[in-house]
Amino acid sequence: MYEELALYIDGEFRQGSEGQGERVLNPATEDELGFLPHASTSDLDAALDSGERAFQEWKETSAYERAGILWKAGELMRSRSDDIGRTMTQEQGKPLAEAVMEVKVSADIFQWYAEEGKRAYGRIIPSRLPGTRQMVLREPVGVVAAFTPWNFPAVTPARKVAGALGAGCSCILKPSEETPGTALALARALVDAGLPKGVLNVVFGKPAEVSRHLLASPKVRKVTFTGSIPVGKELTRLAADGMKRTTMELGGHAPVLIFDDVDVSKVVPIIAGGKYRNAGQVCISPTRFFVQEKVYDEFVSKFSEHASGLKMGNGLEEGVTMGPLANRRRIDAVDELVSDAQEKGARLTTGGERAGNQGYFYKPTVLADVPDEARIMREEPFGPVAPMQSWSDIDEVMEKANGLEFGLAAYAFTTRSERAARVSDGLQSGLVGVNHCALSFAETPFGGVKESGHGHEGGIEGLDAYLTSKFVTQMDG
Ligand code: NAD
Repeated sequence: MYEELALYIDGEFRQGSEGQGERVLNPATEDELGFLPHASTSDLDAALDSGERAFQEWKETSAYERAGILWKAGELMRSRSDDIGRTMTQEQGKPLAEAVMEVKVSADIFQWYAEEGKRAYGRIIPSRLPGTRQMVLREPVGVVAAFTPWNFPAVTPARKVAGALGAGCSCILKPSEETPGTALALARALVDAGLPKGVLNVVFGKPAEVSRHLLASPKVRKVTFTGSIPVGKELTRLAADGMKRTTMELGGHAPVLIFDDVDVSKVVPIIAGGKYRNAGQVCISPTRFFVQEKVYDEFVSKFSEHASGLKMGNGLEEGVTMGPLANRRRIDAVDELVSDAQEKGARLTTGGERAGNQGYFYKPTVLADVPDEARIMREEPFGPVAPMQSWSDIDEVMEKANGLEFGLAAYAFTTRSERAARVSDGLQSGLVGVNHCALSFAETPFGGVKESGHGHEGGIEGLDAYLTSKFVTQMDG
């Protein structure tokens, strides 16, 4: 069972007007799951017109009424989570339990923004002019163009769509063409919950062509993107031409600092859990391991043991703890980084190669003694690879941790609070996890600094992203 693929434009699930499209593959088997229609230019124009019309009505709809629909959509997603999870595993590869959990988290996000939309408070500012009232009103920014990637096919659209709709915006979503079924399943839940037509449109196509067309339209007032840094920069440039607001959730290369006061046996499963979740294709995945000298050998050995004990396979099979990579590009990219590190002197302790020749499986990999010159210490691996180095000087290791253009997530593991405080204060990162790796919740802000992007999703910041302030001053007439 796989989701029926379609565009969703102006309240209708339909095919593209010019018959273009592409095949969607299962990364575990390389079998075709379905044919995804592409939107033509006129389909995109229809989505823009529909989004603009719907925005005028949706912003006038009370936050309470909007909340009722978003809340119900969340309930439907939760009740359908097994089926939607199955769709996700088939198109993306992650183990079914992870996929079902992601759908439930997405349901949470919709319900959280259902509530938060009611709290788009403005304020009254005491006036210096007699007989004058000064008010700040919060208004939805307008039609939102949202672009989401393939690694979290439910949560990335949920964060954008729920925030936008909760704030009173309409949204044109372009999910990844590699994982379209999950986003369509979320759209169907919203439709079944009573979302008026045009408040959400879902389109697919050649990503660069779709984004160029949508961003050229004056109807779009906000652009939100999750994906790689080069694409984020390109979209920011396009948005600048129309002075559109942007939220950019881009790549990361998260340092993880392990101090010698930790109980290695206790922290390894926590960190390895974070590393190999979704086969490492996570923007906040721990990716540069800096381990203090005294515990380095023990850490490398226990971590490697944990990695080699993971059960890799088709995510639909019972007991599988790591699925395939989501597409063939990742196999080549990861393999290149691993070979480069080995050529430069890194020691492979486990994995380091593709598994089999059907499906995009890459073995959980650990590289020890990785020199700074290895590309993997600078380039985001976005795969199941853990490169490790030992350290002895805290200032040096902090400099390394902060030495890249990335600034999304960072981690520290220590039992001493002064070390925890020093590291969390000193790390140039939008998110810091101390002694655990769970950084993303509906109610907490998520976003990076430096080239990892700007703006936030999640939390009150994730509503603010879709609101603008209007100042009204009124003198007694
Ligand atoms: P990519 O840069 O080609 O694409 C990344 C995502 O952006 C895809 O979902 C794609 O559909 C979309 N995209 C690409 N060009 C676009 C455009 N011009 N307009 C709108 N959307 C566009 O790379 P990829 O091979 O799919 O992924 C590789 C890299 O992307 C990874 O190494 C990682 O750095 C990054 N990535 C990051 C995240 C994240 O959560 N931040 C998610 C997926 C990929």
